[in-house]
Amino acid sequence: MATGNINVSVENIFPLIKKFLYSDHEIFLRELISNATDATLKLKHLTSIGEASVEYGNPVIEVKIDKEGKKLHIIDQGIGMTKEEVEKYINQVAFSGAEEFLEKYKDSAKDSGIIGHFGLGFYSAFMVANKVEILTKSYKDEPAAHWICEGTTEFTLEEADKQERGTEVILHINEDDKEFLEEGRIRELLTKYNKFMPVPIKFGTREEELPLPEDAPEDAEPEKKTVDNIINNPEPAWTKQPTELEEKDYNNFYRELYPMQFEEPLFHIHLNVDYPFNLTGILYFPKMTQDMNIQKDKIQLYQNQVFVTDNVEGIVPEFLTMLRGVIDSPDIPLNVSRSYLQADGAVKKISSYITRKVADKLSTLFNNNREDFEKKWNDIKIVIEYGMLSEDKFFDKAQKFALYPTVNNEYFTYEELETKIKENQTDKEGNLVMLYASNKDEQHSYIEAAKEKGYEVLLLDSPIVSHLLQKLEGSKEKLSFVRVDSDHVNNLIKKEDEEISKLSDEEKEKLKADFEKVIPTEKYTVQLEAMDSNAAPLIITQPEFMRRMKEMQQTGGGGMFGMGNMPEMYNLVVNTNHELINEILNSKTAKKQERLIKHSLDLARLSQNLLKGEELTAFIKRSFEMVK
Ligand code: ADP
Repeated sequence: MATGNINVSVENIFPLIKKFLYSDHEIFLRELISNATDATLKLKHLTSIGEASVEYGNPVIEVKIDKEGKKLHIIDQGIGMTKEEVEKYINQVAFSGAEEFLEKYKDSAKDSGIIGHFGLGFYSAFMVANKVEILTKSYKDEPAAHWICEGTTEFTLEEADKQERGTEVILHINEDDKEFLEEGRIRELLTKYNKFMPVPIKFGTREEELPLPEDAPEDAEPEKKTVDNIINNPEPAWTKQPTELEEKDYNNFYRELYPMQFEEPLFHIHLNVDYPFNLTGILYFPKMTQDMNIQKDKIQLYQNQVFVTDNVEGIVPEFLTMLRGVIDSPDIPLNVSRSYLQADGAVKKISSYITRKVADKLSTLFNNNREDFEKKWNDIKIVIEYGMLSEDKFFDKAQKFALYPTVNNEYFTYEELETKIKENQTDKEGNLVMLYASNKDEQHSYIEAAKEKGYEVLLLDSPIVSHLLQKLEGSKEKLSFVRVDSDHVNNLIKKEDEEISKLSDEEKEKLKADFEKVIPTEKYTVQLEAMDSNAAPLIITQPEFMRRMKEMQQTGGGGMFGMGNMPEMYNLVVNTNHELINEILNSKTAKKQERLIKHSLDLARLSQNLLKGEELTAFIKRSFEMVK
């Protein structure tokens, strides 16, 4: 029997391990199962190249709870270790590795979160166990070894009589960590971290019903058989080639990933590169809701089929974090802080690769089945619009498939739209004016007025649309977006042919003054317009600029300081050619004039949904009086 001292310089390693890793105790199981998986795959490799003359068979990794003995066993049928190897790998290499790590990251490790991704390997076992045993038999023809360590720098190492190849790690669980002796807790961990690991993992047994023989009577009970309860799928869809998979396989995998998700994904993107970095994965476009904050089912990050985290910030471009699915890459450095990660060259490449793949997929969908793409537009537009806003490369690519729906449910690309409206919607300065509405009902009368002029009206209703329009205007020469209710229809797209006013200049001045006497001028700016006599007498509009700034601010626009308390300001457009306006101007008494102005203003406000509460009640009462 050998006894010894594990490298004196790491005297204080156990308290450090316990302290630093406190918040993330649970990762020990992932680490030990990763080691067991590695040991199994190493053996597979050696047998396949003829280096190991043993039968590989169908190895499984078993996790076993011994509640009474307060022990947790992790058993593999992998490569095993000889006594010398235990000495070398467990006592020296692993320890010095752990020490190095702790030395290097003593400070940064404190701001948790990162630490869980480290993988302290074997020694993380000491986070939950006061005593750890390794019973191991190498595939080589040598006796088994038994290593015991009680959480100090001392250990014992002796021969053992274990006959089966492989390693059994036995954790004597701490009193404080009793949760890891609960079946439910271990099952939870296995499903979280190990659900897609490449070697089958057995956790207990389960009953399986055998198929009934064909001649069985109708009321026959199927026979039951006890089988291993395998908790993982060793060959998840993302590890396969796209050519091996059908649509239903992708949908099934989605369900496997998110068992609580009942909606089908809209479509998927299979990621698969091996140069200049290694990355596989499948991303899904789910149906987007307006509520982007509540998101439980996120993209999961794996390394060699081991779950690492579902925080992919910095790795996946922000606008795509709304997607779901899996990415698996051994090339993402996880032992660094998030801000460092974002500056890492490999990670930047990964991020732009993902952006490109998503853009390509969208192009393909658009080109192959436009009708279907249009149907899905409403559900995917948030991601696309957000991407156009935040990533210039994506913005460029999206020109080919970003759609602009009209209030009539037609869908145009920017280019198509431009060609279609150029003639009718270019103003006298040569600006192309794109009209849009954000709500078909609320802006109904304005939409109708614009349509009457033969204008195309877009329906743009995403919460970030004001930002996107700002960006589009900035990217093109002589282009402006104007919401239909931001001015009278004649002024939306200013052309040469101005209507002639029936009023003289003096009359106009008087009219303006009359209005300003009655209406709250801090809220309304009177704007006299000579319009068609059949058009409405009064219209309330909110200038595009003002409204858009307000919207951008509400949805988090950068750089718009000082706009916080921008007042509600409107234009009151007065149609000087309307009969009612003429009546107002020529009212016999000031009282009558005031009544006419007030009531007309209320009507204009009503049509803009601006008349509410007490004022609305008073208006209705007054109106009933009038119809009597
Ligand atoms: P790492 O896995 O990062 O190398 P560990 O501390 O987890 O670090 O393990 C150190 C070494 O111990 C491994 O590289 C491996 O050689 C050996 N080892 C650990 N667990 C097993 C196991 N279950 N079977 C065989 N060898 C193992």
